[in-house]
Amino acid sequence: MSDCLFCKIIGGQIPAKVVHQDEQSLGFLDIAPQAPTHVLFVPKRHITSLNEATVEDRELLGHLMFVAAKYARENGFAEAGYRQVVNCNRDGGQTVFHIHLHLLGGRSLTWPPG
Ligand code: 5GP
Ligand code: ZN
Repeated sequence: MSDCLFCKIIGGQIPAKVVHQDEQSLGFLDIAPQAPTHVLFVPKRHITSLNEATVEDRELLGHLMFVAAKYARENGFAEAGYRQVVNCNRDGGQTVFHIHLHLLGGRSLTWPPG
C-alpha cells in the first residue's frame, strides 16, 4: 500500500534497523523502544489490522509469533521471558495501520498494561 509507513520500510523507501528477514516477514527495531529489546515483526503483505485478517492469514500471523519467539531465543532473553503484543484500532492503541507484532524483552514487564 503506497501510503503505508511499514510498507515503505518493507520496500526500503524509509530506513529501519532490520534484524530479521524472511520470505513472508520483516523484523526491525522500534523507533521509540519501550524495553531494552523492542522489535516489530510485520508481514511483507499489507494487512491493515487484526480486524482485516482473513482465514487465509492464519498461518502468516502464527509465523510472526514463531519468528519473534525464535528471535528471543537467539538473543538470549527467551528463558527470562518477554511479551508479544498486537494492538488493534483505537482502544487497542494501534497507531500504524499495517499489522505488526511487538516483541518486548530485556526487563520485567508489568501487568495489566495501561
Ligand atoms: P502501534 O501503536 O501501532 O501498536 O505501534 C506502532 C509502533 O511503531 C510504535 O511503537 C512506534 O514507536 C513505531 N514506529 C512509528 N513510526 C516508526 C518508524 O518510522 N520507524 C520505526 N522503526 N518504528 C516506528
Ligand atoms: Zn502496509
